[in-house]
Amino acid sequence: MTRYAAPGTEDAIVSYESRYDHWIGGAYVPPALGQYFENPSPVNGRPFTEVARGTAEDVERALDAAHAAAPAWGATAAGERASVLNRIADRMEAHLEELAVAESWDNGKPVRETLAADIPLAIDHFRYFAGALRAQEGSLSEIDDNTVAYHFHEPLGVVAQIIPWNFPILMATWKLAPALAAGNAVVLKPAEQTPASIHVWLSLVADLLPPGVVNIVNGFGAEAGKPLASSPRVAKIAFTGETTTGRLIMQYASENIKPVTLELGGKSPNIFFDDVWSADDDFRDKALEGFTMFALNQGEVCTCPSRALIQRGHYSEFLEAGIARTEKIVPGHPLDTDTMIGAQASNDQLQKILSYLDIGLQEGAKVLSGGQRIEYDGELAGGYYVQPTIFEGDNRMRVFQEEIFGPVVAVTSFSDFDDAIKTANDTLYGLGAGVWTRDINTAYRAGRSIQAGRVWTNCYHAYPAHAAFGGYKQSGIGRENHKMMLEHYQQTKNILCSYSPQKL
Ligand code: NAD
Repeated sequence: MTRYAAPGTEDAIVSYESRYDHWIGGAYVPPALGQYFENPSPVNGRPFTEVARGTAEDVERALDAAHAAAPAWGATAAGERASVLNRIADRMEAHLEELAVAESWDNGKPVRETLAADIPLAIDHFRYFAGALRAQEGSLSEIDDNTVAYHFHEPLGVVAQIIPWNFPILMATWKLAPALAAGNAVVLKPAEQTPASIHVWLSLVADLLPPGVVNIVNGFGAEAGKPLASSPRVAKIAFTGETTTGRLIMQYASENIKPVTLELGGKSPNIFFDDVWSADDDFRDKALEGFTMFALNQGEVCTCPSRALIQRGHYSEFLEAGIARTEKIVPGHPLDTDTMIGAQASNDQLQKILSYLDIGLQEGAKVLSGGQRIEYDGELAGGYYVQPTIFEGDNRMRVFQEEIFGPVVAVTSFSDFDDAIKTANDTLYGLGAGVWTRDINTAYRAGRSIQAGRVWTNCYHAYPAHAAFGGYKQSGIGRENHKMMLEHYQQTKNILCSYSPQKL
């Protein structure tokens, strides 16, 4: 086990500034109204830096800088932009541990995950979009012997990006990499709960980007996010967050007829068919690990498999093994490399989860494991920790229908294939799903029948850059990841050309 030193202590590999301003036009700029807010670490609940509290004035300044930078950036050769993205990836790789610790300290998640997943996935994302850009081609349609339609990809110009707190650096990367590859300048607003780690990232890569191509305005949703999403000066709004906020973003965008992509909430079903239990030990073990994935990232994942549907034939045996496996999840200090579950990202989020633990009990769900806040003494005192919790109940309960965004799974049983699909689809959401079976026909039919943008089959929580990700139903509009994202950040220019010697 390694314990990384906490930022601000001797031997720490990350040092935060005591204050962060907005990053606008390649320089730090104080907030127009001079206000800052404190940022606590979820590890111990204590503030470790303060951050500019952005307002409409700051958004305007960031948009000025982005508009000044966009034409030149959009006109660079694809190879040149790709090379900038690759250099960002190289720089991040050279500072992997620093970024991983910064992310864990700001968000509360275990460093074991930031080292193995968050930061490596972000690095790969920049490399993937560098490659996708190099491979992108326009097209040509032969209209008739003398007429040709050329199709060019052009950047949109200046885009707004608003992100949540659950994977601060990775969510920023999912948005920045395709937008920058496509030739846009960006104004990005991080979540107010996790505003700091992006500045550590910035300190490592800022010199690689022309001033004004990436601008970061910190602050709260209503004060900084709303003016950004409502601005007629942005060509697109890319948003990840709650479904209720997504609805507002669409309203703001509609005022100016701007396109939006929305990555919203989920209540993902994880379906275990009977044959999992009779399969070989390795497969059964893999499926049990899949069951415990509800606690990954403290359950703060939009695709958290928060509803487990287990077929009746082996319900009790599977659930008993699932409980035993869940109880082996190691809680502890987020900066210990052995820790498997760290802190929830904010006190508000902790309180929300605790309120759902009450709601579940009140509506008659049974707690099979966990169900309590964890309160540590010493270094972690004041931090936001919860036990992984397993509820048993039925799909009409609120703990089955509402996004808790914590390490909480609601378990129920199903009789046959049709019952499984009916229960899986009985939700407002449609982001992720898991299907576990050795039967290829069942797996295929389930994958096609579940109304969700991503169906993991005999796996879960994998996020490769080249697999399209996004929601059906109220889980969103548009996709992230995959080379198709380049087109989400471009517009098509058609030049219709006549080479005919004849008059019109
Ligand atoms: P949130 O909607 O409260 O906030 C997200 C961002 O929107 C923050 O930066 C916030 O400041 C900003 N915001 C809030 N109100 C705004 C407004 N009126 N105008 C403009 N911006 C505003 O969501 P959250 O609690 O930070 O994040 C958790 C949610 O994100 C969950 O619902 C989760 O499922 C979802 N999520 C979805 C995906 C996905 O890819 N589908 C990925 C991660 C998280």
